[in-house]
Amino acid sequence: MAKVGVIGAGFVGATAAYAMMLNGTCSEIVLIDRDEARAKAEAADIAHGAPLAKGVRAYAGDYPDLKGAALVVIAAGSNQKPGESRLNLLARNAAILASIVPQIVEVAPDAVVLLVSNPVDIMTSIARALHPTPSLVMGSGTILDSARFRQLIGERAGVNARYVHSYVMGEHGDSSVMCWSSALIAGMPVATFMRERKIPWDDKIMDAIAYDVRNAALSIIAGKHATYYGIGIAVNSLADAIINDRHAVYTASGSCAFDDVCLSLPRLIGRKGILETLMPPLNKDESVALSHSAQVLYDAQEGVLKDGKLICL
Ligand code: NAD
Repeated sequence: MAKVGVIGAGFVGATAAYAMMLNGTCSEIVLIDRDEARAKAEAADIAHGAPLAKGVRAYAGDYPDLKGAALVVIAAGSNQKPGESRLNLLARNAAILASIVPQIVEVAPDAVVLLVSNPVDIMTSIARALHPTPSLVMGSGTILDSARFRQLIGERAGVNARYVHSYVMGEHGDSSVMCWSSALIAGMPVATFMRERKIPWDDKIMDAIAYDVRNAALSIIAGKHATYYGIGIAVNSLADAIINDRHAVYTASGSCAFDDVCLSLPRLIGRKGILETLMPPLNKDESVALSHSAQVLYDAQEGVLKDGKLICL
């Protein structure tokens, strides 16, 4: 069994650890946070449930405890301060990663590094620039957006979302791309499925679903100030795929055809992180939207990254 490190034991990091503990995804979880008291408290709270679940050992630690880890999740966050520019926030996040990534590499050079902190695609690009083996670095990207997409289509269709196959690609953010042309239920395009069952289905409904996918986080944050259960489960799914070399397919953030940009595409995930990119056919609108999403990310990270190198530190 495997060890997983989680850096950043806030809502997201602790919930991901909790999901891995409940599922017995790994044998050991070490929580690291610059707020040591927080890491200790979260680890203890999780550890107390372990004897009643799958016996996963959870504890708070420091970077040397990552030795032998198969996976390190980065959920350390820094939020925008009032009046702070996005570029400044990005530069601050880059500085945080510049301190975290070399410490991971020193003790666990072969571990897959999974970025969850936002803006996750740019954080993934930055971490790849800091890692001697960039192919081991990936981001959770649109795994959660794809899950939300499946859930909303499933609700309309009256079909359990597990049996809806559809992907959200591109940026984990406003420019994300709903890939309707490859969305299937029981091997049927979603529109065909709806028509045959006489379920109302038109552009307005599709736009409403896309809106809800893109705004899900904001509406949850409006109600409870943070999102963590969905992403915690998503991290557990990725951890399971990596630790157990499942060759599972999830939309995750990694390199793409656009220079310097990381974004989400369907990826084959296993022991070494992203093993392969699996590109379904896109229609013209989807291709244009994906290029636009890459451009949005490229523009957003200008001033931070150039030719795969950090230029802001
Ligand atoms: P949080 O404030 O509860 O937790 C962040 C933790 O990071 C804190 O405990 C803080 O002490 C720690 N931290 C900050 N800098 C650190 C450093 N240099 N080293 C170690 N620890 C450090 O925030 P949260 O709600 O858990 O969110 C964490 C991140 O996850 C945010 O960036 C958030 O936007 C992101 N997020 C991503 C997704 C997604 O789908 N990718 C979903 C939800 C949240």
